[in-house]
Amino acid sequence: MIDTKGYAAFDQKSPLKPFAFKRREPGERDVLIDILFCGVCHSDLHQVRNEWAGSTYPLVPGHEIVGRVAKVGSAVKKFKEGDTVGVGCFVDSCGKCDACKRGLEQYCQSVVATYNTLQGDTPTYGGYSTRIVVTESFVLKISAKEKLEGVAPLLCAGITTWSPLKHWKIGKGHRVAVQGLGGLGHMAVKLAAALGAEVTLLSTSPSKSVDAQRLGAHHFVATRGKDALVKLAGHFDFIIDTVSAPHDLAALAGLLKLDATLVLLGVPPEAAQLPAFSLIAQRRSIAGSLVGGIAETQEMLDFCAAKGITADVETIPVQQIDSAYERMLKGDVRYRFTIDAKSLQ
Ligand SMILES: [Zn+2]
Ligand SMILES: [Zn+2]
Repeated sequence: MIDTKGYAAFDQKSPLKPFAFKRREPGERDVLIDILFCGVCHSDLHQVRNEWAGSTYPLVPGHEIVGRVAKVGSAVKKFKEGDTVGVGCFVDSCGKCDACKRGLEQYCQSVVATYNTLQGDTPTYGGYSTRIVVTESFVLKISAKEKLEGVAPLLCAGITTWSPLKHWKIGKGHRVAVQGLGGLGHMAVKLAAALGAEVTLLSTSPSKSVDAQRLGAHHFVATRGKDALVKLAGHFDFIIDTVSAPHDLAALAGLLKLDATLVLLGVPPEAAQLPAFSLIAQRRSIAGSLVGGIAETQEMLDFCAAKGITADVETIPVQQIDSAYERMLKGDVRYRFTIDAKSLQ
């Protein structure tokens, strides 16, 4: 077994603490990875605090992992020792269902999440740790040579915004709105702009306009105030809504053109009210989207490496994770925390 040092939540209230545990010895199709960086996702905090119910403790969060291959099993073909690799939100799936056959492993009913799930009888532990063992087909190649701390968040925030942009075939000639400029929103702006779309950031904070432009948005609209959105009615081909706080979905849907789609990525705690006419009027759609499949994640990582796209990060030692969570709740991070795994040694 592989000795591993991690940081874990032991219940839903206390600060995270050091936790020593063992990973399985790599089997013939497994890759042992020495973790370099792990991004801090809002869903880490939801699960640490058991806000989605079903959390089991100790819980080692983290699903935005970048590391180096330390060892490979005898049947591993894609990777060798020393390669830079990534691991995202899940580490296994059934491989047989319709979703898996279509390369949409994230929608497999038997998908094994990177942490807080059972793999066989063993709980999965995530990337707030020194090492991880993952079967080859769920490991991603990372060709980026630098800013690896900024590559880590691509494994969740990046793919979560990339997947809907690709599914709805967004690119040149499309007007895209991104609602909210946090971890997801800042990646949505960068990726939509890099795909050639005309990007408008919608935010309640006027102070975000400078950053929005720096990240690649062509327009900025402060959404507070009654009439802020009136002139944008029927304007957009696609809207990415990243906001997890309660907000007015009907007003947002009203900004869509004929046949256009609003995709939900944030998870507000309360169900939204939606008058049917806000969709009927222009045959609009509201959809949801969950991270992305392995092949699609590889495509996104290659695209980002070619274009030099990384997340904007603040790198922290793991010992600062609780204050990082508090700051994340206040929106006080531009735009993702990344844990430097050296701090776990
Ligand atoms: Zn995530
Ligand atoms: Zn499956």
